[in-house]
Amino acid sequence: MGNFLNNLRNRMARFMYGRYGVDQLGRFLSAALLVCLVASLIFGGSRGGRVLYYVGLALLVWSYFRMFSKNTSKRYRENVKFMELKRKVAGPLAREWAHWKQRKTHVFFKCPSCGQKMRTPRGQGEKHVTCPKCHTQFTRRT
Ligand SMILES: [Zn+2]
Repeated sequence: MGNFLNNLRNRMARFMYGRYGVDQLGRFLSAALLVCLVASLIFGGSRGGRVLYYVGLALLVWSYFRMFSKNTSKRYRENVKFMELKRKVAGPLAREWAHWKQRKTHVFFKCPSCGQKMRTPRGQGEKHVTCPKCHTQFTRRT
C-alpha cells in the first residue's frame, strides 16, 4: 500500500513537472466555482440554477486548465493582473464595509471643496469642520 501511494505520488509529481499549479487566481477560481455549484444546487430546477451550474463548470475547466498549463509565464502574468484587480476592488470594498459597521456611531462625508473623505462621531449637532487637507471650513449636521 505504501509503495502504491509512493508510486502514485511520483507519477503525480512527474505529471505536474513543468506545469503551473495553483496560485492566488487558482484558489479564487476554486472558491468561486464551489460557490456557483453549491448555489446551483440550492436554486435547483430554476433557470438561474442551470446558469450557475454551467458557470461553475466553466470555472472548473478554467482552473484545471491553468493548473496543468505548461505556459507558466503567461499564467503568471494572469495572476499578476488578478492581484492588481483584487487590490483595486478589495480596498474600496473594505472601506465601505468599515463605514457600514460604523454607520450608527459615525457620519461620513466629503469636503465640499477638495473631496477629502472624513468622519466624525454622531450626535454633536451642527459641527464646524475644518478639512485636514485644504483647510476649508464648513458645518455638518452630525
Ligand atoms: Zn478639503
